[in-house]
Amino acid sequence: MFCCSYFNNTGDVMSSHALCFDDVLLRPRYSDIESRSEIDLSVSVSNTDSKLSVPIISSPMDTVTEENMALGIYSAGGLGIIHRYNDVKTQSSLVESAVKSIPDALVGAAIGVSGGYIERAQALVRAGARVICVDIAHGHHMMMRHTLRVLRNTFGTSIHIMAGNVATREGFDDLAAWGADSVRVGIGGGSICSTRIKTGHGAPTLQSVIDCASSEHAGSVLIVADGGIRTSGDIVKALAGGADVVMLGSLLAGTKEAPGEVIYKNGLMHKAYRGMASAEAQIDWRGHTASLEGVSTILSCKGNVAEVVDDLVRGIRSGLSYSGAKSISDLQSKSDFIEVSHSSIDESSTHIFNS
Ligand code: IMP
Repeated sequence: MFCCSYFNNTGDVMSSHALCFDDVLLRPRYSDIESRSEIDLSVSVSNTDSKLSVPIISSPMDTVTEENMALGIYSAGGLGIIHRYNDVKTQSSLVESAVKSIPDALVGAAIGVSGGYIERAQALVRAGARVICVDIAHGHHMMMRHTLRVLRNTFGTSIHIMAGNVATREGFDDLAAWGADSVRVGIGGGSICSTRIKTGHGAPTLQSVIDCASSEHAGSVLIVADGGIRTSGDIVKALAGGADVVMLGSLLAGTKEAPGEVIYKNGLMHKAYRGMASAEAQIDWRGHTASLEGVSTILSCKGNVAEVVDDLVRGIRSGLSYSGAKSISDLQSKSDFIEVSHSSIDESSTHIFNS
């Protein structure tokens, strides 16, 4: 395992290295896997008695996850987190109708850390949510600590609590100690994110995952790699680096189950995809803008979420087979990252199209 921490606990720079997905490849290894169906991609979701059969979670964004995505991704083996950019009644009814459509469906829902967040969480749990995601941009924050404490005191271990986002092992350790069952890891890497440009802060998502995986809480608290995942190859790298599961925005936006109307452009079908800190999302959500750290765009429509997930899962299984790994934990113990030069980006792409 390639592991390089770039800050120690006192903030001294240990190394200036921080790896992005494109900086590394996984070294192919001897494999005794005869069929890719031997590969187990399941992940247990603590405090829910449920398992995901594929390590994929859809982002709590208003162009990614509402009722239809929650159902579609659950049916495909993953988990959807219904976004919080609406009133409590609307969000709870989205959860309720998802849970009613498929009894026992595992559905997650997001909350914030201010306003009536506890009333929102209670309504969502009553509606059937079994995963509550405390969804804030800078999760390593005093208000996260308070919120996690209140949630744990209110719900005990009857729900799975996801929290984030963080970019460092210190952040991961604190959220784990404050009561999170899973932590979203990644700041500034999202495809629609302008946090790094606006604030100068962030860390490559892969490096953040690698750093968090060195925590003593890793293994008991799930690492959710979030932001900047563009391909099944990126997913395999995130899992190899220590993630238990990945969270996807752009890869699932534009599917039939993603919220939003179809937009025709040049006769082709598109759907909006936007950062929740974009001007467009903020105006729709709260009527005005504050700090702008996201952008809005449209993406070509891409069919059902089941087809998209199946395609990703085929790539992930193939990825594990190249490392000779039968499960995600097997991949993590066997995998070996090679740092590559910048020119490998060209060689690694289907470069016939470049000339
Ligand atoms: P993607 O999969 O690269 O498209 O990234 C999706 C992730 O970006 C989400 O799961 C969030 O963590 C993050 N995100 C969502 N909206 C914003 C925003 O407006 N600014 C910064 N990050 C965002």
